[in-house]
Amino acid sequence: MSDDLSFQLKCIDCAKTYSADQVRYRCDCGSQLDVWHDLATLKPQISQNLFNNRVSGAPGPTVIPTAESGVWRYREMILPTLPDQIISRPEGNTRLYQHHSIAEWAGVDKFYLKHEGENPSGSFKDRGMTVGVTQAKLLGSTAVACASTGNTSASLAAYASLAGMSAFVFIPSGKIAAGKLAQALAYGAKTLQIEGDFDDAMHLVQEVCNEMGIYLLNSLNPFRLEGQKSIPLEIIQGFQWNPPDWVVLPAGNLGNTSAFGKALYEAKELGLINKIPRLACVQATGASPFYQSYQTQFKEHITMKADTIATAIRIGNPVSYPRAIRSLEWTNGVVTSVNDQQIMDAKAIVDQAGIGCEPASAASLAGARRLVEEGVIKPDETVVGILTGNLLKDPTATVDYHTGNWAEAKFANAPVKVGADLDSVRRVIEKEL
Ligand SMILES: *Cc1c(COP(=O)(O)O)cnc(C)c1O
Ligand SMILES: [Zn+2]
Repeated sequence: MSDDLSFQLKCIDCAKTYSADQVRYRCDCGSQLDVWHDLATLKPQISQNLFNNRVSGAPGPTVIPTAESGVWRYREMILPTLPDQIISRPEGNTRLYQHHSIAEWAGVDKFYLKHEGENPSGSFKDRGMTVGVTQAKLLGSTAVACASTGNTSASLAAYASLAGMSAFVFIPSGKIAAGKLAQALAYGAKTLQIEGDFDDAMHLVQEVCNEMGIYLLNSLNPFRLEGQKSIPLEIIQGFQWNPPDWVVLPAGNLGNTSAFGKALYEAKELGLINKIPRLACVQATGASPFYQSYQTQFKEHITMKADTIATAIRIGNPVSYPRAIRSLEWTNGVVTSVNDQQIMDAKAIVDQAGIGCEPASAASLAGARRLVEEGVIKPDETVVGILTGNLLKDPTATVDYHTGNWAEAKFANAPVKVGADLDSVRRVIEKEL
């Protein structure tokens, strides 16, 4: 593998390259690394038809990851030297939903939601984890670790078990959604509840991995981002290679923002698409360092103490900051922010449509609505919002909203207390008919 020049790690700043068969997360200069593909060599091997012919039918009893995974379908653009053993559930192939009440809330005619909560562990993190854990296996690692607001740990725990590796997850104390903690514990990861916030846990896990030879699978790891590239690739393929005008996504640690920009840039260079959709990254007001930096044209690199109901994006010092800025340049992207009230109202709209998502995911719809109001997104443009996680990840936030533990729950649907007799029940139901 080391002498395969089409497959290297490359510094995003000084362009120094490293062979991909070593454990390395940063350049000697301290900057972040990309998995670097030689696009000129790749171009003659890639076509729309290559990927169209791989869309599989119903899953059979024998899982063939490269055929059934929405990630490994694009393998030439992800891990060109395909290993013998792929650790896959398989993931991806998530659906695109449309609903009149959601489009109306956003203020555009054509609004789609790509539901990444339909991945095996309930979030898009599985797309990165299948590649990250496969690479860990290839490197001979027997233990993997991450810091996580929840979904990364759920995904890491599942994929590590599948691969027969030990998993260590570092979570912030408190503020981790029940559905995510439950998964980490159930899948058997050693769960370290750090007395600090996500940013403290992130700092610690990097030290521990370097000291103890454990493979780090945060989105600092460039292989995870390669897997997450498959989200926009599935979107553009789903649109039969005529991309939508906008892709709107929640932004926390900025891994997805980085991956989406790289995927779209590469897809254009490889001739799969003629135009690049614009990215709109949405942060929660209480965790908006990237938005605030954006407002200074990135002259200032702002960090903050983060707080928001959307725990998946409760991050004050996003690790993929430089790669995300590059994504905005590649896609003519924008950054916006929405407060927790706007997030929870947008979530109620998504939930009521029968689609459902966790709080952070609803930032996509809330952010699109703000950008339409500001005239950045035009009402006749086609918009795809990303729902990053499943509704069941954070049952507490949802139940609190509906049962009076949220100040302004416009769309609350509280349970009704009713006597255990037919008349009482009839009175309640008649009012609804
Ligand atoms: C991880 C996560 C995010 C944030 O994605 P980044 O790549 O860290 O910006 C958003 N929503 C959900 C549900 C997540 O799990
Ligand atoms: Zn460098």
